Amino acid sequence: MKILITGGAGFIGSALARYLINKTENTIMVLDSLTYSGNLDSLKEIKNNSRFNFTKCNILEFEKVKEIFTYFEPCKIMHLAAESHVDRSIDSPKQFIETNIFGTYYLLEAARNFYSNLNSSQKLDFRFHHISTDEVYGDLKNNDDLFNESTPYSPSSPYSASKASSDHIVRAWKKTFNLPTLITNCSNNYGPYHFPEKLIPHIIISALNGRSLPIYGNGKQIRDWLYVEDHVKALYKVLCDGKIGETYNIGGYNEVTNIDVVTSICEILEELAPNKPKSIKHYKDLISFVEDRPGHDYRYAIDATKIKKHLGWYPEETFESGLRKTVKWYLKNKDWYERIFSGDYKLERIGKSE
Ligand code: NAD
Repeated sequence: MKILITGGAGFIGSALARYLINKTENTIMVLDSLTYSGNLDSLKEIKNNSRFNFTKCNILEFEKVKEIFTYFEPCKIMHLAAESHVDRSIDSPKQFIETNIFGTYYLLEAARNFYSNLNSSQKLDFRFHHISTDEVYGDLKNNDDLFNESTPYSPSSPYSASKASSDHIVRAWKKTFNLPTLITNCSNNYGPYHFPEKLIPHIIISALNGRSLPIYGNGKQIRDWLYVEDHVKALYKVLCDGKIGETYNIGGYNEVTNIDVVTSICEILEELAPNKPKSIKHYKDLISFVEDRPGHDYRYAIDATKIKKHLGWYPEETFESGLRKTVKWYLKNKDWYERIFSGDYKLERIGKSE
């Protein structure tokens, strides 16, 4: 089948594109405007495959998006294009409102227009899968129940508010216009090809360069970490077998504090990269605590029972195995991130993040 992936040059979208080309027979079209976080190098290993197609396009360009639908005739849409970094949404929310809310609206309208001209058997197969985040639910205290699909929305940041808004709009297009939609809300992803501003790659690369490892507040914030390749398998399962109009939460069953994430990376680096920068005896010596982010959520944790029970998905990686694979990948793929640093992005731009 033909699958249109928006945001397919980003971290999760490129993992999805690699999975669909390497592990399935589907033909894909990646639609991406290549913002600072979109990277064609992440698609290098599949770019010559005859089932792979790429179009540079901004989802805000409605006429162009409609033309791509007409030309490619997708059977499924997987919508990942978004502004995705919380710190950037605090510095400058406008782009988040435009891409995440208006962009989703334009894409839905292009899909609705295309869907209305399909015959009845094509309509049965058509899906619009919106990929979202657990951050729409706000945050949890230590003893609170985990986020499930009925948890009320309570977003904290401009990023999570824009994603929450897009989720509501997608639901409305199902209810009002009968567009066959699916929504997934996932916890924090990590793995290869993750843009260096995010916590895990930022810590790995900074440590290797002998730079400080800044941690927000006391570092006790808890995130539920999911290896990106487990996420894309879950997305494909939902796309193929999910029930129209349903939401599925996807989580890693790995609740870890930020400080534990950072110390675990330091321990793996001690073993895999023992030749440290001259200034330090242990990678952990680089840890520093910095002023907390405004509105910083304390804890996110997903109850992924529904996807396990109804679709049989469960993550394969533990945090320990996934983190080790990730550190190994960054040690082997210096070229990939060095090319990012040779552009506008500087390691110190955002010193701390997730
Ligand atoms: P990313 O920032 O790595 O990738 C986003 C991609 O979208 C980039 O390739 C970028 O060029 C593209 N893009 C941005 N604006 C665009 C526009 N206007 N038109 C076309 N393309 C545009 O993000 P990611 O981490 O891969 O996240 C992908 C999706 O998954 C997002 O919707 C995000 O909200 C969601 N999500 C992410 C996580 C996570 O931990 N990273 C967790 C849950 C959900």
